[in-house]
Amino acid sequence: MSPGLERERGLTMPEKKKLDLERREMPKQAPHIRRHNFCEVAHGYTAELAMAEAQRCLVCKKPPCIVGCPVDNDIPGFVQRIAEGDFAGAIRKLKETNCLPAIAGRVCPQETQCEVKCNLEKKKAPMAIGRLERFAADWEAAQGQVEMPEMRPPTGKKVAVVGSGPAGVTVAGDLAKLGHKVVMYEALHEPGGVLTYGIPEFRLPKQIVRREIDYIRKLGVEVVCNYVVGRTKTMEQLLSSYDAIFLGTGAGLPWFLNIPGENLCGVYSANEYLTRMNLMRGYAYPKSSIPIKRHRHVAVIGGGNVAMDSARTAVRLGAEEVYIIYRRSQQELPARHEEAENAEEEGVVFKYLTLPVRLIGDEDGWLKEIECIRMELGEPDASGRRKPIEVPGSEFRMPMDAVVVALGNSPNPLIPSCTPELKVTEKGTIFVSDFATGKTSMDRVWAGGDVATGAATVIMAMGAGRVAARSIHEYLTGEKLAATTSEVTNS
Ligand code: FAD
Repeated sequence: MSPGLERERGLTMPEKKKLDLERREMPKQAPHIRRHNFCEVAHGYTAELAMAEAQRCLVCKKPPCIVGCPVDNDIPGFVQRIAEGDFAGAIRKLKETNCLPAIAGRVCPQETQCEVKCNLEKKKAPMAIGRLERFAADWEAAQGQVEMPEMRPPTGKKVAVVGSGPAGVTVAGDLAKLGHKVVMYEALHEPGGVLTYGIPEFRLPKQIVRREIDYIRKLGVEVVCNYVVGRTKTMEQLLSSYDAIFLGTGAGLPWFLNIPGENLCGVYSANEYLTRMNLMRGYAYPKSSIPIKRHRHVAVIGGGNVAMDSARTAVRLGAEEVYIIYRRSQQELPARHEEAENAEEEGVVFKYLTLPVRLIGDEDGWLKEIECIRMELGEPDASGRRKPIEVPGSEFRMPMDAVVVALGNSPNPLIPSCTPELKVTEKGTIFVSDFATGKTSMDRVWAGGDVATGAATVIMAMGAGRVAARSIHEYLTGEKLAATTSEVTNS
């Protein structure tokens, strides 16, 4: 460890006074340019910018940022290494707890997790933890050599991981490091879950997901694609070949509006819209043909990250007008602030307090208009947010040739439907008896990520993966591993 890191954590008063409070902006493509391409919007920090940003860290004696991190990254540990120019040390530190740093650094909602707890938040602006995480991971990739972590000797135990999203990849990586043989089964032809089929290229380039999956392979994990558990093999058959199973099958079943006209041509679920662009290489246009009709007027229904991704994809496909239609106000918008801002800069028009009530088609069955009603906010509902109420007589129509429904998703019922021992909740999520272990109602079966919580975030899925890996390891070997700082503090 470098001398700077050996000293007791915490800056002296004179050091604190000298601190540069200005948060470093990350260079990105200008809106008028990025509207026309699928290349990543943000360019990432240079080494100089990363070091300058990292030097803002207060090196708190009790770092609150770690408590906000579901995978327990030693944030001051890796940030201090960047501050000192020890980039190899920074990525080594990060990988102790996070096998997907380039991804987490790009898509994690840091503003509601680690960064919101940063003590600099009270002074001016929190440290840009995600941007520094991304920098360290990209720096390592640019060196062309990936450092492997310490691996335990083989235990002779075998674990099947079903689903290759962030939950599955995290369990697989952690268990492989602990010496277990892991095979990860994926229904689609490419691994990565939503990271591959959902989040667009301009936010998370596929090459970065592939790089991180390659790292998991280097740890010894075998990845088997085009393998649908529940069809290719049942859970019972898998259990006869493995000591334990982890289910990380996500929430890939889209919700719809259930309004007249939803079956018209030109109406998509966000899942279909984004999967076509991602898995059928629409993002590589003009090198690859576009697997979707080019629409001129597109309305995206919903206000989360999925809605922003769909709207920004429609912009890049050349639509003249793209709307986000959201039934609550801007204040309740669930998307990351940064993503909503990016969408607005790219020309997406936000129609708040608006609810679609009917989709109207032409004689050939193609969508031609959307009918909406205006809303106002009433008393808070069960979610704590003010309930949207229709304003009578305020219906209006807009010409529209595509609607993308981005309201949310539930888990696919396939595995529970052919595995009666596996309990599900009323919401269709797999029942987990204890979220501190990820154990399901079925012996030797664990679950985590969106399939257990309902649609959530990448880092929550990764956190669930870490918890389950520890519990599976304890079951397989009897060894109890320490809980993470964030779990201990939050419990
Ligand atoms: P998933 O990522 O859904 O992976 C599950 C995998 O299991 C899939 O690949 C699926 O094909 C596979 N599978 C399913 N059934 C079977 C079966 N029977 N056999 C074999 N394999 C199976 N979160 C953020 O934190 N930040 C963001 O910016 C963000 N943006 C998002 C944008 C979009 C468009 C979407 C859809 C989600 C976004 N999220 C974001 C949410 C986040 O991606 C998810 O919470 C996260 O991916 C859940 O991880 P998971 O591993 O549980 O499941």
